[in-house]
Amino acid sequence: MKITQHIEKANGSSLFSFEILPPLKGQHIQSIYDGIDPLMEFKPPFIDVTYHREEYVYIEQENGLLEKRIVRKRPGTVGICAAIQSKYGVDAVPHILCGGFSKEDTENFLIDLDFLGIKNVMALRGDAVKSETYFKPDPKGHCYAEGLVRQINDLNKGKFQEELLENNHQTDFCVGVAGYPEKHMEAPSLDKDIERLREKVNAGAEYVVTQMFFNNSRFFEFVEKCREKGIKVPIIPGLKPIATKNQLTMIPHRFHVDLPDDLTREVEKCRNNEQVREVGVEWCIEQSKELIAAGVPVLHYYSMGRSSNIREIAAAVF
Ligand code: FAD
Repeated sequence: MKITQHIEKANGSSLFSFEILPPLKGQHIQSIYDGIDPLMEFKPPFIDVTYHREEYVYIEQENGLLEKRIVRKRPGTVGICAAIQSKYGVDAVPHILCGGFSKEDTENFLIDLDFLGIKNVMALRGDAVKSETYFKPDPKGHCYAEGLVRQINDLNKGKFQEELLENNHQTDFCVGVAGYPEKHMEAPSLDKDIERLREKVNAGAEYVVTQMFFNNSRFFEFVEKCREKGIKVPIIPGLKPIATKNQLTMIPHRFHVDLPDDLTREVEKCRNNEQVREVGVEWCIEQSKELIAAGVPVLHYYSMGRSSNIREIAAAVF
């Protein structure tokens, strides 16, 4: 079923969902099931699976020279999505990127998803790979997520890249896109970023999932601004509980979001990461309760492979 249909069916109550990462190459899919199993009692109608493109690594050779190699550390997005749908009977939402994909690669990827019975995709640009300062699209790919959304919707109308193809099949994907309550790091302003978000919605995106945030007022202001600019689709808040002290610097650095002073103070007082985890869970419970009271369609948690804290939060609020 499409995410938008799940939201409609819930008839105003907030749903629970979460995002997982494929395991590192070499690990078994059982690690994915071990993360999902404890969360199934909260009846997630859908589970997102991130996509990780190749990275460049330099390996030192015997002669001292560096060899540049391309590796993908977390492959398996499509396989995990298929496994989730068949094992748990819930909708899996694969993330799909512009980066590293030509339009033809995208089309072939979407055909695989369609044949596997996957109904939803999250369309993203992707970040620059580590060896690049700025994001570089594939020469035959999309520069921005908007183009990717447009391609998926063209395919929904039966329009393939190769115009001469004889086709009698149309896909029917429901497309989600990313939104940034504290603006995307490259955007000149929040207003401009929201205008870009509106372009993605105008291109056919049917819902928005936000970047993590730790201060609900940022989310509420973002939703208000989106509505003022004519974005009418459901906006789903993304939440992540803090779990380690390092995240006080890692999260702002990597995700370009602020941490409220109250939260930072509480984390700094902790003597170990077990205590930090408790503070993170408590903070996220309070955020979740307020968001539910405000009537958000879904609470979407970034589990990042740690389901025990998400379980505690879900048990307290659902
Ligand atoms: P876009 O919407 O294309 O925007 C990128 C930037 O370009 C923004 O600053 C925007 O304002 C600007 N922009 C947009 N259109 C134009 C235009 N026409 N002209 C000029 N500027 C423009 N990354 C992964 O690698 N794998 C994942 O699985 C993944 N999942 C994610 C899930 C969520 C919910 C979120 C919030 C992020 C995720 N990311 C993931 C990270 C994402 O790929 C990065 O944040 C990326 O830098 C931007 O992606 P986007 O789709 O928002 O890009």
